[in-house]
Amino acid sequence: METIVGIDLGTTNSEISYLKDGKPVIINIDNQPIMPSCVGVDKSGNLLVGMAAKNQAVSDPEATVLSIKRKMGESIKIPLGDKEFSPEEISSFILSELKKQAENHLGIEVKKAVITVPAYFDDAQRKATKDAGALAGLDVARIINEPTAAAVAYDAGHKENHKMLVYDLGGGTFDVSLVVVEDGIVEVKASHGDTHLGGDDFDDLLMNHVAEEFKNKKGTDLSQDVKARSRLRASVEKAKRELSDNPYAKIREEFIFQDHHLDIEIQRLDYEEMIRPLLQKTLDCIHMCLKDASILPRDIDKIILVGGTTRTPLVHEIIQKEFGLEPRYEISPDLIVSMGAAIQGGMIAGHDTHSILVDITPHTFGTSAIDEYQGMMRPDVYIPIINRNTPLPVSKAEVFQTSHDEQEKVEVNIYQGEESLAGDNTFIGNFMVEGLSKVPAGNKMVLNLELDINGILKVTAMEKATGLSKEVIMDTKNVQRSLDLDAAKKNVASMLSMEEDVIDISVGEEKGDLISKAKELRIRAEKLSESLNEEDAKEIHDLLAKSLKAVNEHDWETLSDVNESLEDMIFYLEE
Ligand code: AMP
Repeated sequence: METIVGIDLGTTNSEISYLKDGKPVIINIDNQPIMPSCVGVDKSGNLLVGMAAKNQAVSDPEATVLSIKRKMGESIKIPLGDKEFSPEEISSFILSELKKQAENHLGIEVKKAVITVPAYFDDAQRKATKDAGALAGLDVARIINEPTAAAVAYDAGHKENHKMLVYDLGGGTFDVSLVVVEDGIVEVKASHGDTHLGGDDFDDLLMNHVAEEFKNKKGTDLSQDVKARSRLRASVEKAKRELSDNPYAKIREEFIFQDHHLDIEIQRLDYEEMIRPLLQKTLDCIHMCLKDASILPRDIDKIILVGGTTRTPLVHEIIQKEFGLEPRYEISPDLIVSMGAAIQGGMIAGHDTHSILVDITPHTFGTSAIDEYQGMMRPDVYIPIINRNTPLPVSKAEVFQTSHDEQEKVEVNIYQGEESLAGDNTFIGNFMVEGLSKVPAGNKMVLNLELDINGILKVTAMEKATGLSKEVIMDTKNVQRSLDLDAAKKNVASMLSMEEDVIDISVGEEKGDLISKAKELRIRAEKLSESLNEEDAKEIHDLLAKSLKAVNEHDWETLSDVNESLEDMIFYLEE
């Protein structure tokens, strides 16, 4: 069967993939799964595409074309070196490079492709994309909408009908689409968006913030110097990515301007306040999209995240808050559109297709801390750090603070689960960090959790001010659900009161003795319940459960055995 590749021809980056054994495989370019959608010419007039062109964009902006996708469908000429090109021609250079790389990888000639476009692209823009493919020597088997491709990637192999919201926040644009899957047909019902809202705007906000702080400290305006500005842009973009996984990021550039160094730290909380109004705009777009599709928020079955900027934790948070649905991001948000296009290509070529399987954590991992729970401050609130469905491997960090003045040690407890109170989750392990600085309460501790595909969790707790840290490796596979003492005591108590209810059933005299004995043992166990350790509480709880079951089932033989075991145990505990 023929190979029809899938191409996501993006504004910032492009990707190419193909179907192998029913599953999409991304083709790496220069060891990277994504290629910048960048075209340029070098000093000798040679064509540069991808990373090579992006690298020279800073030093030679006139010889580089960025974001050509924004111009598709326009009748304009773009100067490049000493020539001029149409948007279709520039795009064809990107497609030719992708085709060449795929051919090198596959060892065959690649003739056909499915190429994706935004749902809002009009006929002229779609035709321009198809023409770009033809100029690159590709027979464009189909042009499909990006949200359709994303929905196909999540849906391949599934049969149920459902409604999905595809939230696509890339470098320069935001799109949201309501996609309906009915009887295997995937259809975009409505789309909304903002063609000038994306990660680049987040970079701008960070740049302004850093430039302002630099000006206050050094009295120099960085934004006036072209070179300093472009170094600053690259530096804040890196810091922005870091803030997706860490509570702090450093922005450091030596000699950024004259003899001044730049050395500023950004806190995620401050950054989130900068970008919050932009993310609010995306929520407004979603509501307009739903209105256009005549669909209520509660009718959405799934929310899919697409585009590099959706790695920002605040994106997940605001979506979850607004719709009460955990957004899905287990298929890489940069690669999902290309993968969906490859699945579509495979379908056209007559291949069988399967669901995309990715290594994810099925559980949330986190710690316990003093926080608010149902309007009250409690010391045992569960604070998630790695959320379930996150692709593996993953590393995430959060910041915590000491609660007492001159607190010299902290205990780090790690749990796995989804419950709001730490003790209701599975306990994974704990350790103590000692020798902290004698400072007032509020000493910052950074807790980093790193989980690999084998379930090995590396936990690092670090005193931020000094770098003092402790690292412990924990195995999260085969973790037994450990007993929480409070919960066990409650369980024992509830079991005792349940027994009270059923104990008065009418039975013969001999059996009545067995039941009376059970009752006496229950009262003795009750007296002990406050002083039980975890292990004993569990054993007592299990025996009382067996006792209750035996009474209910009139299983006098078992009740006699259980009475005996309980008596032995209580005797030993009363010692
Ligand atoms: P795309 O257009 O989908 O390729 O997305 C590119 C945008 O995603 C750029 O603005 C990147 O800076 C941004 N981006 C990539 N990775 C991350 C990340 N880990 N956290 C936040 N933004 C990211």
